[in-house]
This record gives sequence, structure tokens and C-alpha cells, in this order.
Amino acid sequence: MTVLLKPQKLVDAKVREFSMLIDGKWVEGIEAGTIERVAPGHGVTVSRYKAATKDDAVKAIAAARKAFDHGLWPRMTASERSNILLKAADMIAARADELAYLDAIEAGKPITQVQGEIAGAADIWRYAAALARDLHGESYNTLSEGTLGVVLREAVGVVSIITPWNFPFLIVSQKLPFALAAGCTAVVKPSELTSGSTLVLGEILMEAGVPAGVVNILAGTGAAVGATMTGHPDVDMVSFTGSTGIGRLTMENASKTLKKVSLELGGKNPQIVFPDADLDAFVDAAVFGAYFNAGECCNAGSRLILHRDIADDVTTRVAALSQKVKVGDPLDPSTQVGAIITPQHLEKVQGYVSAAAGSGANVALGGSHIDFGFGQYMAPTILSGVKPEMAVAREEVFGPVLSVLTFETAEDAVRIANSVDYGLSASVWSRDFDTCLTIGRKVRAGTIWMNTFMDGAAELPFGGYRQSGLGRELGRHAVEDYTETKTLNMHIGARTGWWMPR
Ligand code: NDP
Repeated sequence: MTVLLKPQKLVDAKVREFSMLIDGKWVEGIEAGTIERVAPGHGVTVSRYKAATKDDAVKAIAAARKAFDHGLWPRMTASERSNILLKAADMIAARADELAYLDAIEAGKPITQVQGEIAGAADIWRYAAALARDLHGESYNTLSEGTLGVVLREAVGVVSIITPWNFPFLIVSQKLPFALAAGCTAVVKPSELTSGSTLVLGEILMEAGVPAGVVNILAGTGAAVGATMTGHPDVDMVSFTGSTGIGRLTMENASKTLKKVSLELGGKNPQIVFPDADLDAFVDAAVFGAYFNAGECCNAGSRLILHRDIADDVTTRVAALSQKVKVGDPLDPSTQVGAIITPQHLEKVQGYVSAAAGSGANVALGGSHIDFGFGQYMAPTILSGVKPEMAVAREEVFGPVLSVLTFETAEDAVRIANSVDYGLSASVWSRDFDTCLTIGRKVRAGTIWMNTFMDGAAELPFGGYRQSGLGRELGRHAVEDYTETKTLNMHIGARTGWWMPR
């Protein structure tokens, strides 16, 4: 049986009120609607944000445009920008408890997990600060005696940053510091479900010395605010993380003015396991990969692709370890799996499980929600006997649901791994170096882990093949993503050419 940690009812929860940040001022917005966030783990209201409208988004874009075209930020030295980003990183670390609490309560995430995410985010701000000073172009002194070619990197301009609810503070930190490092200005829209920590980031950035208008932050719906941010002609680039469906819509909208687009979308990530693997290590990684962040993770290892000879044994061991996972109160430091983001999402996750069971999959563990009397929770769930063509094996379930498939040959494993529309990440488990590298080369995904799962670092690029996205975040090139390339082609000495005598 799953280990349950009943949430403490937050009867005295202090409701935090947030306004929106436009042009360096905290404002109530033009029509001042309110978004109320009910904590998914506790069932009580914990935050109220002023809901931005399309007109607020237009004002925020105008502020970012003015700050880019006429303001100080893009004209500062890289060293000055870098110092402000470092100060922001220190302030994120100083307010880590407050940020972690907000993400835990608004998203239903386990508190110790979010503490790790906030520390990781501060580290990313520091990394971006270092890259700010390393942004440079190229020069060509070898083209001809009379030619010098210089390739400049210039900030792309105004960037719209749209983020989802599953890693509210971490995902904005994978985008905004790199855009700022390049000298861009931004309008940021967090998910309407989890806007609190991003709005606190606005306070931090103002205090760290980011000039007015450089970062504007709006809570609001995707339909009103997001659509304006992706379509407005004064926006130069859109950086989006979320579902593949809305990613597609974002690209369509941005295509009307041919904006640069960066998309980090869904995944259906396989873990391929050979009989010679360290199975103890794998079983631990399987449980972590499936239930980390309640499976509400683009990188979730939601498909186990096990060699036929070990499938039954490994499934039994994964199920046994899954029962030790602690599910419940996001604010309890020993919780490993918190709440599901909304009641509607819980229904969607359960729908996938019943559809799979209806088509012949076996519910080897869990399968239903957990009723604590308030909030919404889902039991760790394992489906065995899943066929590659079932929806649960092809679509992003975004819940703590593991599908087990089997293979006979390495070619089979690669074919099954590549048979979905996604290509975000994958892992291969074997003690044989050749097996790992062969599979690693053939699986079409942006990250391949070998004998590990979901490790990451600010230095390593992250993003997807095919319908998992476009472009890469993090890594040395993250800042370059927020730049345009300009060629300076210079002639030295007397010009000879078309009309001139040679
Ligand atoms: P969405 O893709 O709907 O939302 C992501 C962000 O886009 C949110 O800020 C949202 O705003 C915004 N948005 C919504 N509509 C538009 C639009 N027309 N134009 C511009 N921006 C828009 O994800 P959901 O939160 O609804 O989650 C649905 C599913 O997406 C999940 O079940 C999961 O499968 C997948 N998902 C994948 C993520 C990933 O990291 N790959 C992250 C989150 C979800 P708002 O919601 O505030 O209206």
C-alpha cells in the first residue's frame, strides 16, 4: 500500500495578494479582475493575483519596447548587466524559503523538492551572469587583403516569456536571465495557476537594479494575455514552455510577424532497459522518473521499455518500491509526491488509466485518486502489458502513471522509443558501452541519459526533437538564442569593383 501523509488543513493560511509589474510600477491593471488560486494540496485559497487583460499586455509590451529602444539596459556594459544578475541570484537565495513555500502551496509540489529547485534556479541566474560577459561574435581576417568580416551578436529585442504551472520558478529561470544577459527586455506571463513566485521575482529584480520597463510581469490567462504577447508586432521573440498544442498555436500566432520562436513542449520519454543493466539502480530511477513532481513533468520517464527476459521481475520490483513512495502533504518535508494541479487535470489523468485498462492493459499498482477529504491526489500507478499504440503509451499523461512495454531486440527498442510524436529525452540502461552508445545515437531525443535519469546542469543544453520543441535552453548557447546575428563586411583601402577599373 502507498505511504500516505495526510495534509494538515490550512485553515489559517494567509492569502497573498499580488498586483502586476508594468514599467517598473506595481499596478492594479486596467479592468482589475482577480484570479484566485486554491492550493491543490489543501483546498483553500492561498493567492490572489490581479488578472491582466489584453490592454495591460499591450501596455507591458510598450514599456518593454521603450526600455529596449531607448533605455539603459541594452546599452550597459556586459559587466554591469552581469553584476545585476548576480545580485538577483543572491536575493533569490536570500528569499528561497518564501519562494519555495509559494511554489509548494500553489502547485502542490513537495517542499523539499521545491527548495532544491529554487537553489538550482539561483545557480542558473549565476551561470547566465557569467555568460553575459562571454557573449561575443566572430571575426574573419582571411577573406581577402581588402576585406575584414566581423560578425556581431546583438540582443534580439523584446521577448515574450510564457511559462507553465509545473515548475513555476525554475522554468522562468531557464529563460529570463539569459534574455537579460543578452540585453533584451521582456514581458513575462506565468501560468494563471502558479503566478506567485514569478511576481516575487519581479520584486527581486527591481531591488537588484533592473531598470523600469526591462522586465514586466503579468498574471492572466493565455487566451487574453498570452495570445497578445505572441502576436503583437512590437514583440521580437517568443520563448514558450507548455503543452505541444499551445506551442503550435504560439508558433502560428508568432508567424504573422515572423518572430523568432523558442518552444519547450511535451515529452513521452522512454527508459530502455537491457538484462545486463544494474537493475537496482534502474528500479530506483524508474520510480523517481515516474513520480517526481507527481509525473507532472515534461521529462517524466513515463514509458519503461524493458527487455522481455527481465520485464516481469523488474515490473514487480518497481511496483514494490513504488509502494514505499510517500504521497501527501506538500508542506511535509518527507513527502515525495504532492498534489495534482487541478481537479480537471486529475480527471484527465484518471481517464488515461481507465482507457488503458479498457483496452487490455493491466493495472499493476494504484489506478485511482487518493481522498484526504480536501485537495486532489493520485496514487502512484503502474500499467503493465501496455501496447505502443495505446494512448497512454503515446500521449503525455502528466500524472504519476507509468506504462510498461517490452522489447526483444535492440532494433525493436529503438523503434518503440521513436514511435511517438515526441523526442524530449530518453535513457538507456546497460553495462555494455556499445549498447548504450548505439541506442543513444539512434533514439531521436534532445537528451539521452545513460545509466541515470533526469540529471541536469545549467551547462547542459535542454530541449526537444520533433514535437517536443524548437531550440535549446541552458548551456553555453542559451544567451545566443536571445540574439540576432549582424555581419559587418568592411573594405580596407581603395575599392575596386564593378564600375571601377581593376
Ligand atoms: P498550456 O500549454 O495550456 O499552458 C502553458 C502556458 O501557456 C500557460 O501560461 C498558459 O496560460 C499559456 N497559454 C494558454 N493558452 C495560450 C495562448 N493561446 N497563447 C499563449 N499562451 C497561452 O499548459 P496547461 O497548463 O494547460 O497544461 C496542459 C497540458 O500541457 C498538461 O496536461 C501537459 O500535458 C502539458 N504541459 C506540458 C508542460 C511541459 O513542461 N512540457 C508544462 C505544462 C503543461 P494559462 O494556463 O495561464 O491560461
